[in-house]
Amino acid sequence: MKSSVIILSVVLLFFQSSIIYSQSQNTEHLEIANKVLSSVPLVDGHNDLLLHYYYYKDRKGNLDEYDISKSTSGQTDIPRLKEGKVGAQFFTVFSFDDSSLTKSMLETVDCLYRIADRYKNDFSFAYSSNDIMDAFNEGKIAMLMNIEGGEQIENSLPMLRLYYQLGVRYLTLTWNYSNDWADAGFDSARHNGLNEFGKEVVREMNRLGMLIDISHVSDKVMKDVFKTSEAPVIYSHANSRKFVNTKRNVPDDILHLLKKNNGIIMVSFVPFFVNQEYADWFDLYEAVYDSLKMGNKETAKAIIEEWKIKNPEPKVPLTDLANHLDHIKNLIGADHIGIGSDFDGFTGVVEGLEDCSKFPNLLEELARRGWTEDELKKLASENFLRVFRETEKASQKLRSGKQASMMRIEN
Ligand SMILES: [Zn+2]
Repeated sequence: MKSSVIILSVVLLFFQSSIIYSQSQNTEHLEIANKVLSSVPLVDGHNDLLLHYYYYKDRKGNLDEYDISKSTSGQTDIPRLKEGKVGAQFFTVFSFDDSSLTKSMLETVDCLYRIADRYKNDFSFAYSSNDIMDAFNEGKIAMLMNIEGGEQIENSLPMLRLYYQLGVRYLTLTWNYSNDWADAGFDSARHNGLNEFGKEVVREMNRLGMLIDISHVSDKVMKDVFKTSEAPVIYSHANSRKFVNTKRNVPDDILHLLKKNNGIIMVSFVPFFVNQEYADWFDLYEAVYDSLKMGNKETAKAIIEEWKIKNPEPKVPLTDLANHLDHIKNLIGADHIGIGSDFDGFTGVVEGLEDCSKFPNLLEELARRGWTEDELKKLASENFLRVFRETEKASQKLRSGKQASMMRIEN
């Protein structure tokens, strides 16, 4: 009897100490994540917050109707940006009215400026790599602006330049559709990559100091950009094609070209680009959804709910996203990665990364996997800042020897 009590006590002691050990390990990794994010800003390369003002619900840019100083129904608001230790956030501006592309685009630009002004104690509008660091040192979130989809410059280099003047610091060359000068990954090829005007857009962006984003474009456009650009490029929100075979993700051979270019891939938190099982499920879900679009809304909703019970949404753990980062780091090194969540721009969720308050969870998981503090700092912002600075430097050089291009598109 006595000896069994001793054995039990020893066993209990063993379990207790292993629990304490794993708890201290957990705290240790979260501490590393928090330490890193206190010493460098976390730059998030892509966010679709403005869709809440114009698209998910037509609020006509009314900030009172979606107040981000409080908790919102979406994935982004100021309390959660702070909790997530976000230091710099790119926000996408866009045309939302096909009959008035420029006017609607300018209204979203104005909306972002109004947000910056309304919440000026929390945000500081940023136009340069130095501005990001200044905002961080003042304890504010740097707000940056980007355009997703090159068609929104309406085949006009003067408009590209004016958007730069307004503060746009990256342009994604295409969205999901090929435009008049670049092919999209999800669309059929119209130009076999970039046509001559597309190459001139890239050169003009180099001259201006605007970052070139090759998320969404076809593989051939990616290769053409690497050949054309005189500055490093970014993928503002994309993942590795090794895990999900979609044109929105980047294959290994092109990741090697990215390393040669000294650019970065900022990984997204979009579950259908992170996990293949989820991507397959989502394809089916979309097909059901699309087939019901035209019918009665209530009936369609009921059919979709029933379909979802029979076909449960697969779970996507945070470890799956960490696998993308591990793979890219192992393949091309820690100097070519970053984060571009795409919050408020997709449905579904990666568990543990539900909204912008959760960024430290990702760094904690990577610390657990043995990533060093230096590597985590590179991921958080140092790589992005390097690319931004090199782009600014290339621009200074190019502006001194080159006039603004007046190339027109040939139809
Ligand atoms: Zn996108």
